[in-house]
Amino acid sequence: MTVESLAAPVAFSYQRVSSGQQVVGHGLDRQADAAALWCAANGHQLDQQLAFSDRGRSAYSGRHLKGALGHFLELAQFGQLGPSPVLLVEAIDRLSRQEPLDAIETILSGLVGSGVRVITLEDQQEYSRVTIAADASKLLVLVVKIQAAHEFSKRNGMRSKANWAKRYEAIKAGQKDPSPRCRPFWLDWDGAAGDFKSNASTAMVQRCFQLSEQGLGHAAIGRQLTAEGFTNTAGSTVTGATTGLLLKDRRVLGEREITDPDGNTETLQGYFPVIVNLGQFDRCRALATARDTAPGRDRNSMRVRNLFAGVLRCPCGLPLGHRASHGGRYEKLLCQGHLDLRCAEQVGWLNYDEEALLLSFMAQRWDKFFSVKADTRQQRELEGQRLTLRTTLAKQQQQAANAEGNASRLLLDGQLGKDTADMLASTVRKATAAADQTKRQLLKVDAALQALLSKPSGKQMGEQIKTKVKAFLADGRQDPSERQRFNGWLRNLGVRMRLQGRHLSCLSWQEGDRWGEAHVYRAGAGKVVSDETLADMAVLGFSEVDREVRLGEIKAEKQMAAKVGRPRRQAKPVAHSVGMLQGKAVKNAAQVSSPTSSP
Ligand SMILES: [Zn+2]
Repeated sequence: MTVESLAAPVAFSYQRVSSGQQVVGHGLDRQADAAALWCAANGHQLDQQLAFSDRGRSAYSGRHLKGALGHFLELAQFGQLGPSPVLLVEAIDRLSRQEPLDAIETILSGLVGSGVRVITLEDQQEYSRVTIAADASKLLVLVVKIQAAHEFSKRNGMRSKANWAKRYEAIKAGQKDPSPRCRPFWLDWDGAAGDFKSNASTAMVQRCFQLSEQGLGHAAIGRQLTAEGFTNTAGSTVTGATTGLLLKDRRVLGEREITDPDGNTETLQGYFPVIVNLGQFDRCRALATARDTAPGRDRNSMRVRNLFAGVLRCPCGLPLGHRASHGGRYEKLLCQGHLDLRCAEQVGWLNYDEEALLLSFMAQRWDKFFSVKADTRQQRELEGQRLTLRTTLAKQQQQAANAEGNASRLLLDGQLGKDTADMLASTVRKATAAADQTKRQLLKVDAALQALLSKPSGKQMGEQIKTKVKAFLADGRQDPSERQRFNGWLRNLGVRMRLQGRHLSCLSWQEGDRWGEAHVYRAGAGKVVSDETLADMAVLGFSEVDREVRLGEIKAEKQMAAKVGRPRRQAKPVAHSVGMLQGKAVKNAAQVSSPTSSP
């Protein structure tokens, strides 16, 4: 809001106090009184609409630049304060205690450079373009004052360093620190005893170490603790990240790390109550280290074993994890929820048939899948959103303009009281903020629309995918970095794959909210057939006999799967011989009414 139209020139007052003590004392009041006195003496009107004060914001760190002073600077830079506005401050140190160079930028470039006349009430000095041009020594005085303000704060910092030295000696002498920030969450402060005591979380921490000793990994410990009814301090589930940190936290051994006044770290023994003994702690560390440096772990991190990581999911919806055994000779997939029974489908171990999955990619009718139909629907939706946002934006901008108009009209009539001004200013602020938000949303929608319109057609997508997979199948499959790249591309493609049953043979494809189906058949060694529907099986040349054979195999696999846990030894290099039908898929297959004869 502009305030140019007042009869008497306007002065703004900026007040800053950095601590609660200064507020309670005479800090803000004293600064306000001095400003009013100056205005009376110099024929200015003290601005009552825009109240600038920062409480508890340090000028040493520059935090006050994010507060009221920052707001004032912005208004000044955009010429919103009228011609040659006056800023009243108690002393230069109210404006900045930063390093001299930064302070000069704030005060000189920011304020004086934008045409603001800065008046320091303490010594009645004016710093502005005019006064500095007339008397260059003013600049020198300003720099000296800035330097002094910074030095003063630095000395304060040193004083708190001296305080720390005293506290440090006390802690070293055995005095306990009751501040909640200085103790772990599993301890409370016992005021009567003058020492720490265990709280409800202690048992959780101890249980965490027990579970670790039993060989559970961080995530599994978190799940187990949650299952046993433990929560984190916020009352929600215990995560692997939490247990990982706990298992490293030497405060369970009673140790406290402390920094001496020179900045060196040392360890105090026996500062906290010991809740885990050293032997157990070390055993848990050793187990964690062993897991981190296990040979398989390193290899896995070197190459992407599961090419479909992040894309392929179990029928239950959880990701399928990759497990290799015998040095990678046997590759299996296992639902992430298998071991702790979160998997509702319990599909057990699946053979990781990478080639078949890739070939299914080749055969999928992507041109139909990335159909234009849904895209036009999405386009219509986005266009609708854009229209709504534009209407909203216009309304919000109008609202801000109206409030501003009212303010200047009342100002001209001399009827703008402080309450009305505050209310109008708040309306303008709110409406402007809302409009900014709308603008950002509008930009997002525009970008989405742009992306949609420049998206290749289903046919182009299909060609792209086929070319990419073909090239990868031809010579990229063994190269770790190629695998990494392929997996990244797959994730970005936006396609999700979900098994429909116990076999990789039956997949659902998902892109956005659309689903497609795919079926992959291993028709003998090196031959994979894939299509979208099981009904096509007959067309593809699979006979009723094939189906019977396959059903027999499924039965056998089921029995094997009942012996949960160990991956089954692969008898033949090719596990999936012919069309695989299971669960829902079997029912579908049964509907194939008249299978054609065997080729
Ligand atoms: Zn599952």
